[in-house]
Amino acid sequence: MRFGAGYGCDNVRMQKVFTAERLWDGKRVIDHPIVIVEDGRIVAIQSRDASEIPAGAQVSEFVGATLGPAFFDVHIHGSAGHDVMEAKPNALQAIGAFLAKHGTGTYLATTVTAAMDTTLSSLEQLAKLIRRGPDEAQAWPVGIHLEGPFLSHVKRGVHPPGLLQKPDIAVFDRMFEAAEGHVRLMTLAPELPGAVELATHATARGVRVSVGHSNATAAETRAAIAAGATSATHTYNAMRALDHREPGILGTVLTTDSIFAELICDGIHNAPEMVRLWWKAKGPDRGLLVTDAMSAAGMPDGEYQLGGFAVDVANGRAMANGVLAGSVLTLDRALCNFLAYTGATVEDGLRAITANPASMTGLVDQAGSLAVGQPANLVAIDSAGALLASIHAGTILTS
Ligand SMILES: [Zn+2]
Repeated sequence: MRFGAGYGCDNVRMQKVFTAERLWDGKRVIDHPIVIVEDGRIVAIQSRDASEIPAGAQVSEFVGATLGPAFFDVHIHGSAGHDVMEAKPNALQAIGAFLAKHGTGTYLATTVTAAMDTTLSSLEQLAKLIRRGPDEAQAWPVGIHLEGPFLSHVKRGVHPPGLLQKPDIAVFDRMFEAAEGHVRLMTLAPELPGAVELATHATARGVRVSVGHSNATAAETRAAIAAGATSATHTYNAMRALDHREPGILGTVLTTDSIFAELICDGIHNAPEMVRLWWKAKGPDRGLLVTDAMSAAGMPDGEYQLGGFAVDVANGRAMANGVLAGSVLTLDRALCNFLAYTGATVEDGLRAITANPASMTGLVDQAGSLAVGQPANLVAIDSAGALLASIHAGTILTS
């Protein structure tokens, strides 16, 4: 990276310019891009082939790199020693500062199954913080993902069995109201009684339904999709295994082209062959790389909290009672792993952590693209998917 000299004049607004080999804005590629930033916002995206770098601008050049939108993680519980269910300003600040350094601009604050009073109070506090908006240099939740309590006992993973509930529209509505409507995604096991009715109801309220933590048959999964389900929660994990006579939830998710599907690409949750299978099945428009990260992400080995329960973290594995309990993954690492396992292009990898989650959630105005007028939240990526720099509101956080 090279920095050009800046010649700020008192009567001229300071402009920052970011250049690279290529830029992917969420839809198209621009060769030899120039991104011009003023007061933390993008004021122009051009090609050097057609225009000049403005005189006096402070230039950061990422030689050979691709510029792309900041990442959007639709499944994350915490990091930097904090869980989103703490729902305190200092917790979200710590999480947001850590994520921003790893290229993430936006996320869905993801709950785990907990006592209803705890869940409702977390949702109320999260809603206030989401409404208030971010401080500088932080990734910020643009909504909430409810992971639980409407999950299968058989595939609950680490969700506390005594707190799981059958799908219930009144319970969902209490959570939705507590969150002031900021719930954007809900994981739901399709085989539970009342799941189809709840999927229909939640979809009508603008919440995307993601099938998961489930032992559903193919028929049960198809019924949830017909009722509006649009995505699948951490494909393979906490999911009925593939069977050639009963394809189940997994076979249905992999072969239904309209369905988005999350994947935790940390080298621990899934073997590389299964990452390739997921990629072949879902392709560049339906894959969602997520972290499912918990509070230990970015922290040393030790004991941490996920929602209300203790998790032991050693050598990159987060475990509770012998079961994987989230991850310590970051999306920049997930991107590298994904490219190494599949040979996919940087642009296709970026799609799975920017445009696809924005499209799945419908939050295309707030995440997943680069455009004039938006905050200058972008990343510079090398050809292997490694994060060279995370730029937040026009400021380089890492390089
Ligand atoms: Zn999770």
